[in-house]
Amino acid sequence: MPELPEVQTVVTQIGKKITGKTLVGFWTDWDKKVLEPVSKVKKLVKGTTVLGTRRFGKTIVIDLDNAYSIVIHLKMTGHLLYKDEVNRGAKEWQDPTNQYIHHRFNFEDGSHVDFSDMRKFGWVDICETAEILNHRHIEKLGVDALSRDFGPEILGEYCARTPKKSIGMLLLEQEKIAGIGNIYRSEALYRAGILPHRHAGTLTPREIRVLHEKIQEVLREAVRLRGTTDGDFRDTAGKRGSFQKRLYVYGRTGLPCKKCGTIIERKKIGSRSVFFCSHCQH
Ligand SMILES: [Zn+2]
Repeated sequence: MPELPEVQTVVTQIGKKITGKTLVGFWTDWDKKVLEPVSKVKKLVKGTTVLGTRRFGKTIVIDLDNAYSIVIHLKMTGHLLYKDEVNRGAKEWQDPTNQYIHHRFNFEDGSHVDFSDMRKFGWVDICETAEILNHRHIEKLGVDALSRDFGPEILGEYCARTPKKSIGMLLLEQEKIAGIGNIYRSEALYRAGILPHRHAGTLTPREIRVLHEKIQEVLREAVRLRGTTDGDFRDTAGKRGSFQKRLYVYGRTGLPCKKCGTIIERKKIGSRSVFFCSHCQH
């Protein structure tokens, strides 16, 4: 599932391509996941110009000049592809992962943004820009994992509030810290040397400081490398991310730890697997 770095990659790349462009239409063959009536979306986007793109946690927002914003969530397998005259023949479009196109935004100059989504859990919505913070998928989000507002004291406060909760579980809760998912919780905890099933209340102030630092470090690094592709994620040019080369534990069950050689283990925490090294993490 795309997490903060993958969504940031999409928002940055797509923002460069479509800001200032005029929309002429919207098409879908999966209206189940268009949260407003399709006719309303079509009417509202037609003739508007894109002012910019941004992100709240893992939710993508495209602001339009008619005081409305398109809201998109990629969910499990969704990704956005930007196509124009220049890249129309790109080999990436032959990648089967890029061929599950269920929604499309068309621009006046012939370019378009395609929403490819094999599992079809991703969704498209539209709402008034002024109401964006009240959007039902945005209002509940906690502090963004890469924002200046997320300091170690906030992490410490959450740990103190639910001392019996495992730290691996706490990091997944979007209403506390927004943007971290399965991949980056495992990687941040590994780099911080903390076992994912430790109770949050047992973390020392020093461990909280280090974990906070490692969360931001791992996310920034992943943004620079256009995210992790362990399955379906593609950037807006249809290319894979490159952070998977830097993974220490995620998806490496049964393989030796890159630092100490101990076999990497997997455990379920919060219905998802978390990966760790029992020698490097305590
Ligand atoms: Zn190790």
